[in-house]
Amino acid sequence: MNNLSLLSNIALRFTNLHEFQDQMNSVLKLLGKHFNVSRVYIFINDDDYTCSNKYEWCNEGIEPQKHKLQSISHSLFPSWKKRMLADNIINSSDINELELDIQNILKPQKVKSLLSIALFIDNRVQGFIGFDQCFKKRIWKAKEIEILRIISSIISNTYTKNLFYEKLKKEQKKLKNIIEGTNMGTWEWNIQTGETVFNERWAQIIGYTLEELEPIDINTWIKYVHEDDLEKSNNTLKKHFRNELPHYECEARMKHKNGNYIWVLDRGKVIKWDKDGKPLKMFGVHLDITKRKQLEEEIRNVSIKDSLTNIYNRRYVFERLKELYNQHKRDDNIFSIAILDIDHFKRVNDTYGHLGGDFILKEFSNDIKSNIRTYDLLARYGGEEFLIVFPNSNKDDAFKTIDRISIFVRNKNYIYNNNKIKITFSAGISDACNINTTNYSIDDLIDLADKRLYRAKETGRDKIIKDNCLND
Ligand code: GH3
Ligand code: MG
Ligand code: MG
Repeated sequence: MNNLSLLSNIALRFTNLHEFQDQMNSVLKLLGKHFNVSRVYIFINDDDYTCSNKYEWCNEGIEPQKHKLQSISHSLFPSWKKRMLADNIINSSDINELELDIQNILKPQKVKSLLSIALFIDNRVQGFIGFDQCFKKRIWKAKEIEILRIISSIISNTYTKNLFYEKLKKEQKKLKNIIEGTNMGTWEWNIQTGETVFNERWAQIIGYTLEELEPIDINTWIKYVHEDDLEKSNNTLKKHFRNELPHYECEARMKHKNGNYIWVLDRGKVIKWDKDGKPLKMFGVHLDITKRKQLEEEIRNVSIKDSLTNIYNRRYVFERLKELYNQHKRDDNIFSIAILDIDHFKRVNDTYGHLGGDFILKEFSNDIKSNIRTYDLLARYGGEEFLIVFPNSNKDDAFKTIDRISIFVRNKNYIYNNNKIKITFSAGISDACNINTTNYSIDDLIDLADKRLYRAKETGRDKIIKDNCLND
């Protein structure tokens, strides 16, 4: 085989074989046969202190050494490293002429003569390819050495590329493990064309497979995200595109296949801009945060709701009342408040027990709730006292609602343990109608409603009072 066909055979082996290990072994075999030596091998540095025999080919009758030559300290044969670094080659037709430390390594392997050429990885000598002759002395011709220098540089390059490829594969695997471990959906979005790539988990979060969602582009996200959150997401995106936010981050509801909305944490970053600062490509992740959101909601409910009746507690409604009050001061928005107190509630407890009383409190709360608007605020004000805040209503509007509730309650039979319980309540109402002229505080408004409630009680109960009398 001439040099050209040797080189092309090496190239073929590096391209045709799939595994790098097989490529190297096959090339070593080819070289061993071509140059008719006992052994061909490649050593690579493990680090600055040791090296190992990574690949080896042995001719018939030659004992393999690879398994014995792992993690060999350079300090065992310092002359070798010195020679390699100085000349990048060691060529000896008789190893007896080499330094003793080298001989000590080679003699047990029955090497008579050798040729070794440095391998450069990342532009540094980090290994060598060696050719041993065990039975006779061998003198290498200059032409042979020349071609072997070329071959060793091909091996160096291929080895370096494979090292890089292996590192890349490792990184990819690590990244894949991290993504799988964190259970994240991923997305890659071409902002200009709308092309989008999601991973399988992205689809799984909303109950689908990717196949079911096809054809997939940015509209797939738009289709499943809650429209209110889409607007929020767009606003945050715009800020990120204008570089006002280093990252895009948004919590959004998405429609699950089962019909429910789930919560996702959507996070991403533009990773490619054009020369005019236009965003081109963005990468991001989705994380299912439904459980966290539910927990937050529960914690929030505990802090703002009354545990028996599940309506707001007085602290929460007072906070909202403060907002309404300030709004009124600014914009003159009207609102009114009503305090309701169940008449002779003690008798309910006395007759039906505390649990009977609790039952009435819960039922009564539900009855109020179903008779007011969703944006009216109902709170448990005390034991059997309730506070209702009516935004955008004056006391006459509030009176109508309370009167309706009063009729409803008066006519209702509350059934508890087969007993029909009848209840009524008294109420006092005030509104923010003239705060700006009277300079009333929230406490003054409450106080006024309370006084009117007291008067309703005093004058016979089952009454709603919204106006002053002379004593107020
Ligand atoms: P009035 O018509 O004057 O309002 O008479 P009343 O009996 O409703 O008023 P009073 O203030 O004398 O009694 C209120 C009762 O409400 C006393 C208290 O034991 C009861 N109460 C307060 N909180 C609860 C509760 O959470 N559960 C039950 N079952 N009873 C409660
Ligand atoms: Mg009371
Ligand atoms: Mg009462």
